Formats: sequence, structure tokens, C-alpha cells
Amino acid sequence: MFEKILIANRGEIAIRIIKTCKRLGIKTVAVYSDIDSRSLFVREADEAVHLGPSPSSASYLVISKLVEAALAHNCQAIHPGYGFLSESASFAAEVVAAGLIFIGPSAEVVATMGDKIAAKNMAIKAGVPVVPGCNQALSDLAMIREKAAEIGYPVLFKPAAGGGGRGMRSVHGPDQLASALQSAQDETRKAFGDDRIFLEKFIEGPRHIEVQIMADQHGKVLSLGERECSIQRRYQKVIEESPSPAVDPILRQKMGDMACALAREAGYSNAGTVEFILDQHGDFFFMEMNTRLQVEHPITEMVTGLDLVELQLRVAAGQHLPLNQDEVQMNGWAIEARICAEDPSRSFLPSTGLITRYGYLRGDNIRLDSGIEAGSVISVFYDSLLAKVAAWGPNRDAARQTLVQALNRYHIEGVITNVDFANAILNHPDFSAGTMTTAFIEEHFDDGVSRLAPPRKHLEAMAIAVTTVYHNRENLMRQSLKPMIAKVGSSPRAEVTHRYMVKGEGDIFAVEFKGEFQNDKQGEHPVRAWDFWVDGVHYAVKTPEFEFFRRRLRLEINKEIQYFRLQYRQNFIWAAFCGISRIFEIYTPQEWELAQYMPKEQTRIGANELTSPLPGMVVSVLINEGERVYKGQDLVVIESMKMESGVASPCDGIIDAITTRPGVAVETGDVLISFKG
Ligand code: ADP
Repeated sequence: MFEKILIANRGEIAIRIIKTCKRLGIKTVAVYSDIDSRSLFVREADEAVHLGPSPSSASYLVISKLVEAALAHNCQAIHPGYGFLSESASFAAEVVAAGLIFIGPSAEVVATMGDKIAAKNMAIKAGVPVVPGCNQALSDLAMIREKAAEIGYPVLFKPAAGGGGRGMRSVHGPDQLASALQSAQDETRKAFGDDRIFLEKFIEGPRHIEVQIMADQHGKVLSLGERECSIQRRYQKVIEESPSPAVDPILRQKMGDMACALAREAGYSNAGTVEFILDQHGDFFFMEMNTRLQVEHPITEMVTGLDLVELQLRVAAGQHLPLNQDEVQMNGWAIEARICAEDPSRSFLPSTGLITRYGYLRGDNIRLDSGIEAGSVISVFYDSLLAKVAAWGPNRDAARQTLVQALNRYHIEGVITNVDFANAILNHPDFSAGTMTTAFIEEHFDDGVSRLAPPRKHLEAMAIAVTTVYHNRENLMRQSLKPMIAKVGSSPRAEVTHRYMVKGEGDIFAVEFKGEFQNDKQGEHPVRAWDFWVDGVHYAVKTPEFEFFRRRLRLEINKEIQYFRLQYRQNFIWAAFCGISRIFEIYTPQEWELAQYMPKEQTRIGANELTSPLPGMVVSVLINEGERVYKGQDLVVIESMKMESGVASPCDGIIDAITTRPGVAVETGDVLISFKG
């Protein structure tokens, strides 16, 4: 086994790999860019090497620096993690050329699988079903028209060098072919420096099912079961689970056999994932093979009890896989949510900044893979994945509920995240029923908000939570103003009924409760039991560990423990629970009456400017001064966290001045363009 390895990655995956290395007694060398110098993963590693400036092209992607660092620090092997160079055949080759071991398959296999056309050909050779289509690079429109008609619409343009869903375009009729081809080619040329495009049947309403395989260098290939990753946004996974509710033992066996057949045909070793698309008739087709550890590997670990990084290390060191196929057991269910720094309410624009508060998660059956802590800087340089929260249960619903509870108390402040969006997905009845397809988010969500009204009982629980906190905070303040009276008159007054009106967006609740915030004789333990009525519905509420001014609240409501995330904003309380996040206003009955007479807030007229909605770098300015533009038209393109986002005009108008240019770094709110008049 290795004594020391270098990890050519950062953030949560670097920490994940370090964890297994520590357990196995393997020393680790981290690498980092300028902005990562004080990151958690750098401190967790035994040694660390500074690579260079923050942009990944000057640090994490510079092969020579990585190889030199590994040699200088006496490493025997390099683990690439995922992303960055993990699927770069030239990286794998140069690592080996330097006399080091690449923890992954051979450079040749990485190259074949990295080319979707070559990979598809390999699958056909191995007898694996592939999506019908034209498996060659196409650029001639007449030829494409002919092939598309043969395949039958809808069709999908796919980049041969693809990844991360970039460059794919679905086409529903011949008149869309030319423009879809153009934009697919432009995007793939930019993203991969390779604009080869091929054509596939676009499968409607499919599910994404992938099989984890592990192969050693002695010919043994194991299937470690499937993961379902149908919950995607723009072809990017958001929620993953293992096993899949759509896969029965017969299908599992078939998919596993096919995945292993492909791995054997390719001469594969180490961890890999074979991605399939499952259509509505139960037929499955090969999509691609990822020649690395996947982001979502924890759920496979949770159901199989295996440590995939350990197996990767053993296999790379030349050891035999320590188990046989019949010893691979899938036990229970695991579901994972990817937590990203992005703002669902603003088209999922990346969010950057400093993490000011961080509520670490622990608990039975919960796994947190995270690379952040309070004080971490979330920059524009890398992708937006902050952490992965996964939960295990003996069955799917138990895992789902544990994950919902975990997200209810996963508190990250300083950057905007998709925590509540992920939680809303988990709380959607179609997700609970397990009937989702890859179109799930598009079908059920607008700007990250479910089209279904939230369940009444969730809103009532939130009304209880915010009232409890508000009332007791008020009480505490009153007590602190009259310390003597509070002490002298400390007899329980549980008979008093308190009344509040609670308003959360369009919903109004009349909340009544009995019970009193009350210290015991030593002044230590507050009264814990309350009777609540929300619009007349009774709830027995206990406050087991009532702490004021904390951002997480734990309440027992009708004998079930619930967690809420809260933030105080003057007389308002922002609360999040089960994927619902709202600002609540709390009024006494008198205040409520007066509030009815308050003038409605005037809608502000926006300034005559276009400001940057996110921090990043201006890539292009799409218009000229004096040009007429229309509301919704993209005027500027900004790159942030590896993503390009168009910034649309807020109005119809004429461009007065352009105050930015390509290459300029901008912050949120910087003026980009001003309009005439
Ligand atoms: P990438 O390597 O860019 O991630 P994939 O081939 O893995 O691309 O595809 C990403 C996602 O795109 C899949 O999970 C699936 O949802 C969708 N997809 C891919 N091929 C098809 C197809 N032929 N029909 C419908 N959806 C597809």
C-alpha cells in the first residue's frame, strides 16, 4: 500500500479522500491556490503545496506543477478526485510517465471513455444497448437533416467531448436544427476546445440510472448497485439516491451485468460509473462512462457499507478486490442532496461571499461531506458545490425523512444556498412517491419554488415556531428591564392565554397559546410545555432546549421533534422548514388592528441602470451604445463559478452608456449599463 499520496483537488472531495487515508495510515499532500491557502482541506492534509494563482487554469489544472509537487514530496500516487483533471487522459499519462501511480483507470481508457462517440462504439462492441442515433461527428446540415429524420424527432445534439451537460440541445423539428447546431457547437468549442457533435434520439420522460463499478488489475469487476439521479436541473444532478425506486432485482442484475461487460471490454480498472437512461417502457440505454469517483458516491457507500476510496487505493496499489460479487449487499436506502452556493430565486445565479455562520450537522444516519466552515470564502473561481448531505434509512421514506430533518437544521449564513430548494424537492408528493423523471424540476418548480401550495401542517408548525421565539424574546427583554419584579412575582401563570396574529406571505394565522416562560427556583430551567392553537387546531408543544438568539430551533410538536432555521429581522422572523422559507410578521391583536390602517408600500421605480446581479468577470457585452434593446434581452455575459450567465435588460429602452467591458471583474450591484431618459 502507498505511504503518501498527493490529492490533485480541493474542497469537500479532498477532505473526503484525506479521511480514508488517515484511517489507512497513508500520508496526504494537499495542493492549493492563492485563495484556498487557509481552507479546511489544506489544514486537514499532512503537507500542503502552493500551486499558484486562484484561477484553476493557473493552479489546479497545471499538470506539470502537480506532478512536480508529488515528486518533490515523495508521493507514490496521485488521487484526482472529481472534476478538474480527473478525466484528463494526458494527466493520467503524465503521472505515469513520471513514475507515479494514477489512482484511476489507464490513460487509454480515460481517453476512450472521454470521447462519447468512442465510448458508445465500445459499448456496442460489449453488447450494451445504446441510445439510437448517428454515432459519428456531424457538421453538414443536409446530412444532419437526413439523419435526424431517420432517427425520428425529437433528437438531441450531444458533444463528443461533453461533460456537465454542456453543449447538449434537444431539437423537436427540422426547422430548429440549424440554430441548435450552431449554439451546441459554440458552447462545446468554448467549453472543451472541441466542437464535434453527434446525434441521438431524445428520450422523453426518462430516468437517469447509473451503476457503480469497481475493477481491479487482475480482471475482477464488481457492480456495486445503482444510483438514481433523475432529479436534475439543466442536466446537473441535485438529488441522488441508492437504490432506485424504478429498479427491481431483475433490472438491477441486467444493468449490473451490462456495466461490468463494458468495463471488461474496456480493460477497466479502479472505480467507474456507467450511466444509463431508462425509458418509460423499462428499456435502458448506455449514455456514458465516468472514469472517476462520482460526487454522489457516498450513497453507494451508505448502502453497501464499502469505502470506495479505500477500494480505489487498494486497486491502484495492485491489490485484489477483497470481496466477490455475491458478497456485495445493498442494505436499506440512502438519499443525498447537493448543497450549492446559488440563488434559486434568481435563476440559480452563483452566490459568493464569506460564510459567516455554519451549523455543522451530525446525527444518526446522517453523513455530511463538506469543505466549508465559518470563515470560508466562496469565490468565483471554482464550482458552486459546498457540501453534500446524505441520509440513510431502512427504507426509502425513512431515509427521505431523515434527510428532510437534516436539511431543516443545516444552517449556512453568508452565502445564499439551495438548501430549501433541495428540501422542497424531498417534500414534493411525486418525489415521495418515487415517480420522478429527469423533467421533474421543470415540471414542478418555478425559480426554485414548488408550484404546489405548501402543506397546511408545515405552515402551522412554522407559525408555532416563530411565535414561540418572538414571545419569549419579548418576555426576556421585559424581564431584563424589571429584574426585581420578575424575581418577586415568579409564580407560574399558565392560565394566561397569549394571542398573536402571524402573517407569512399570503397566509395569516391566529395563534393562541398557554404556558409561560418561567425560570424554576434556581432560575435555570425554563417552563417547557405549551398548549398551542393555530386557527383553532390544537398542538402540544415542548421546548426541550430552548435557547434564544440561536439560528436553529428545536421544538417537540405533538411528540415529534422538528427543527427550524430562523433569523431575526427586526419584528420579522425569517424561517425555513421542509423546503418552505418565508418571512413572518408577528403582531399582537392590537398591533394587528392598527396595521390594517398602515399605507401600502409604494413600489419603487427602478433606476435607469443595469447592475450586475452577481460577482464575476464580464465575458462579453452584446450591445452597443445608442442601440435599442428590449426587456429580457441579454445585454452582458458574466462568468462566475465556471458558468456563463446572461444579464438581461430590465426594460425596453435605448443604451446610453456602457460602463463595463470584457475582462473586468464586477461585484453584485456594479453598474454595467445605463439607459437613456
Ligand atoms: P454529460 O457528460 O454532459 O453530463 P450525459 O451524457 O451524462 O452528459 O447526460 C446528462 C443528462 O442529459 C442525463 O442525465 C440525461 O438526463 C440527459 N440525457 C442525455 N442523453 C439523453 C437522451 N438521449 N435523451 C434524453 N435525455 C438525455
